[in-house]
Amino acid sequence: MAAHLDVEKIKADSRALRGTLAISLKDPTTAAVAEADTVITKFHGIYQQDDRDQRETRREARLEPAYSFMIRVRVPGGVITPEQWLALDRLADEVANGTIRLTTRQAVQFHGVAKEDLPRLIRTIDAVLMDSLAACGDVNRNVMCHVQPEAGPVHAAALDWARRLSDHLTPRTGAYREIWIEGEKVAGSEVEDEPIYGKTYLPRKFKSGIAIPPVNDIDVFSQDLGFIAIAEGDQLLGFNVTVGGGMGCSHGEPDTFPRLADVIGFIEPEDLLTIAEAVVTIQRDFGNRENRKRARFKYTLEDRGLEWLVSELESRSQVKLAAPRPYQFVGNGDLYGWQRMRDGRWQLTVFVENGRLNPNVRAALKTIANDYASDIRLTPNQNLVVAGVIESEREAVDRLLASAAMDQEHGPSAIRKNSMACVALPSCGLAMAEAERYLPDLVTRIEELADRHGIGKEPITVRMSGCPNGCSRPYLAEIGLVGRAPGRYNLYLGAAFDGTRLNRLDRDNVGEADILARIDQLFGQFASGRRQEERFGDFLVRSRVIAPVGRGREVNAG
Ligand code: SF4
Repeated sequence: MAAHLDVEKIKADSRALRGTLAISLKDPTTAAVAEADTVITKFHGIYQQDDRDQRETRREARLEPAYSFMIRVRVPGGVITPEQWLALDRLADEVANGTIRLTTRQAVQFHGVAKEDLPRLIRTIDAVLMDSLAACGDVNRNVMCHVQPEAGPVHAAALDWARRLSDHLTPRTGAYREIWIEGEKVAGSEVEDEPIYGKTYLPRKFKSGIAIPPVNDIDVFSQDLGFIAIAEGDQLLGFNVTVGGGMGCSHGEPDTFPRLADVIGFIEPEDLLTIAEAVVTIQRDFGNRENRKRARFKYTLEDRGLEWLVSELESRSQVKLAAPRPYQFVGNGDLYGWQRMRDGRWQLTVFVENGRLNPNVRAALKTIANDYASDIRLTPNQNLVVAGVIESEREAVDRLLASAAMDQEHGPSAIRKNSMACVALPSCGLAMAEAERYLPDLVTRIEELADRHGIGKEPITVRMSGCPNGCSRPYLAEIGLVGRAPGRYNLYLGAAFDGTRLNRLDRDNVGEADILARIDQLFGQFASGRRQEERFGDFLVRSRVIAPVGRGREVNAG
């Protein structure tokens, strides 16, 4: 989003997210949309991007940048039917760049879509009951939910609440259907009220999700609003509510920082929507609309205090928070491999490096979706779950994946399986350094170091982002890397493996040699000094290599 744009005014003047998009889409003189419409498209799940690898040559040739669009398809809770999967797969070839990208929020992204192909893409996903509305923009985005159906009735109940939460917080505007599906009513079009968001929506993006202990795959403490399911056996009793998490910050601006959410109390399931609406309206009314760098809910909370928030929340919702119930997390990654589901069928969690599905893998998944799976699920760590496979067909699924170089049993190391990178270059306009294109090579070198120190089987989280926005949640990784400039990163260390402690800046603006030298040194100390089953991040904190971080401000203090 260009810094000079008055985003608040554009939102207010947009007639409930219409802007001049319908005109922009018909303009044949450019592959782009009007500048103000680049703000509006985000609310429709669409980012205008240009190929940064081509910027210079096109500028020299006096051509406009190589514009194309990224579309993010919303998948609340990450569950996709085979029919939906096949439609998405077709679109990857027909209108996108041949790949599908699974995001860190259980959504699907298409890259390289031309302006004229946007309506076709959106009409195709609409036909299989999917949309991209509110996948980006200053609203509640894709609602996350623990993804493994093996959790049985508790998972089913949590997923149902995730979907209801998503529906409840989706903007009411008819602009999306008008522009993309039915064609805009040019004159006299009714502008709807947005009862939850109002005319200017939220000051910034807002993220929410539901975790089911002991798995913290959604990184609930990174969400603006989170719910930790509390269950007794197969019965969902309610949720612990978490508020004020968030990853992004700006380099060199100590007033901005990643923040770990606070657990503020327990609610019964039927209070979830009331509480969520109250939190969102508090942020709508009190969030910072002057400075987008400090406009996330975490700063509203940080500036006004937890006591104020709880009092405002209870008064708006008329729900009294009970004391939080006990819970325990064991990790913030995915549970890989085959697991038996409650109904006797099987699910397989498949590692997908940085969420990128190339044509070979897509071909295998297409057959799996068509012939073997009851559904495909997107995990919060950019991986896939193939669910509902009958016992006798497991081998066929394994064979198909192996044929696409996705051998799960003998494939990626424990470190690679716990690695994650954002898209970054060449498509993300905010990227300062590589992430998705570089992390696989760096992980190979980290694996070599781990093997040398005899800890090659140790799961260690490694996450890389191309800029401090932190889309891959790098501040919750045991080893976090955040782009500063081409080939240069901030190295963060010492988060907890279960996502309950942030890491801390260890090396500022360093290149690969320094990163590897530091990791080599610390792997050596870890191998010789760890306690039994102690995690790498915990070891760094216990041995005082890294001072523990509280809720957030200290992350960048080094
Ligand atoms: Fe882009 Fe930064 Fe997000 Fe990476 S972290 S996708 S570079 S905004």
